[in-house]
Amino acid sequence: MIVDGHIHAGYWSPRMFLGRGTSFEAMEACLTECGIDGAILTSTDQRDNHSVAAFIAGSNTKKYWFFPWVKPGVEDDLAYIRENRAVIHGIKLHPSCDKIKVTDVKAEPFLRFAADEGLPVMVHCGRWQEMSSYRFALEAAARYPEARFILSHMGGDTPELEMGTIRGITGGGLDNVSLGIEGVREYWAVQKAVDELGAEKVVFGSDFPLGHPRMYMGLVDALKLAPGQKRLILGGNALRLVGEE
Ligand SMILES: [Zn+2]
Repeated sequence: MIVDGHIHAGYWSPRMFLGRGTSFEAMEACLTECGIDGAILTSTDQRDNHSVAAFIAGSNTKKYWFFPWVKPGVEDDLAYIRENRAVIHGIKLHPSCDKIKVTDVKAEPFLRFAADEGLPVMVHCGRWQEMSSYRFALEAAARYPEARFILSHMGGDTPELEMGTIRGITGGGLDNVSLGIEGVREYWAVQKAVDELGAEKVVFGSDFPLGHPRMYMGLVDALKLAPGQKRLILGGNALRLVGEE
């Protein structure tokens, strides 16, 4: 089973990515074209989690797993994940868009909830080191060893940040951290992650509709992988993280 581990279902606000977005139908058509069987869906900076949940509830052609985008400090978002626990499979935090570090005290109730409920936490990691550094995400992972973290963009989409993330995970002995490959150009950094952390810690994702799944399926194709490793990266790891295996 091939699973896209990182899709933004819906439209970004005009100030982000030129307001780029996708209808649910166009998203599903793209997945079908790519031979993808399912996907982890989150929202955009508009945090229209209700629409994503409604789409998933009404969908029967593919498997979808829902990671609502939550903003630390917003009581409604905390209430939302508590009330909708039955239909969520993880949570998504975006420190850059929401301007709240994952180590901020406001994020604690969300991380506590994920840890208690066994839900994975997907954390956007980017170049803005004061806000969305992989270091903060690793700090949170160390603080909540019972929660599983997925660091988007392999900890930040530059060679230095990707390598720093791999070193931080091995140096910290962190067993609860996986890396998403969406947005990464350095295929060799992904190979390094496979070699150093193991294929079971690398998760295929596209960031659709910002990226296209074929871009990252191509990246995975370029790696030196055993068939079992490739299956893990393209779907097995995502399935395990959402509790399907
Ligand atoms: Zn993203």
